[in-house]
Amino acid sequence: MSLPEFKRILLKLSGEVLMGNQSYGIDPEFVAKLAQEVRDAKDTGLEICLVIGGGNIFRGLSAAAKGLDRTTGDYMGMLATVMNALAMQNALEQLGVETRVQSAIPMASVCEPYIRRRAERHLQKGRIVIFAAGTGNPFFTTDTGAALRAAEMGCDALFKGTSVDGVYNADPKKSPDAERFETISYDTVLSRNLKVMDASAVALCRENAIPIVVFSIRERGNLAKVLEGKGTQTIVQE
Ligand code: UDP
Repeated sequence: MSLPEFKRILLKLSGEVLMGNQSYGIDPEFVAKLAQEVRDAKDTGLEICLVIGGGNIFRGLSAAAKGLDRTTGDYMGMLATVMNALAMQNALEQLGVETRVQSAIPMASVCEPYIRRRAERHLQKGRIVIFAAGTGNPFFTTDTGAALRAAEMGCDALFKGTSVDGVYNADPKKSPDAERFETISYDTVLSRNLKVMDASAVALCRENAIPIVVFSIRERGNLAKVLEGKGTQTIVQE
């Protein structure tokens, strides 16, 4: 299945992919590999916005289940995404890729605050912009943050890199007969409660007609393959 030509994309990576084979935190060797994927995608001429989750370090909801105040936990989760963003910025810059981190929660001595017009300028200059701290609000996720930034930055598509190569009709890790969808509508994802992204993220993409491309980021070279239309993925669209 071939994808349309994109000029600007938003790439969303869940925090978990930064762990590599660890069970927690950041594996710098694996982050370096991810950075190569992102650099290769950028070398095709694309403008890239990046959003990284924080689940490898902290999730507000999980901590709330153990008694921590949810709002406090969510702010901690957002801070975790800033750590991931800095790790990815460092890995990209080691490859010579100019990168800026913009946080939805201002922290002047660490990175830039999120300013849409400034982000636009960075992209025009060929820099990758990593949007950290999700939406800046508790009770949201970085999926919704990614959909929001994709809409604000006028991205042609939202690429969701996960450990699975698309959306299946059942969990492919549990059911060997599970079938992958080539394309699927936003409405079907929402009505069948398929675990692609949270409902608010899918709804935001639907309202703004931003296709969601779900693919596996675990295999080397896969992002570039997917962008060339030679990879395996599921496209969520109207
Ligand atoms: N978070 C939040 N608001 C946001 C984005 C994230 O409160 O707009 C918090 C929330 O606690 C979440 C954590 O940050 O659990 C990490 O983000 P997420 O779970 O989306 O990371 P991922 O699953 O993509 O690694």
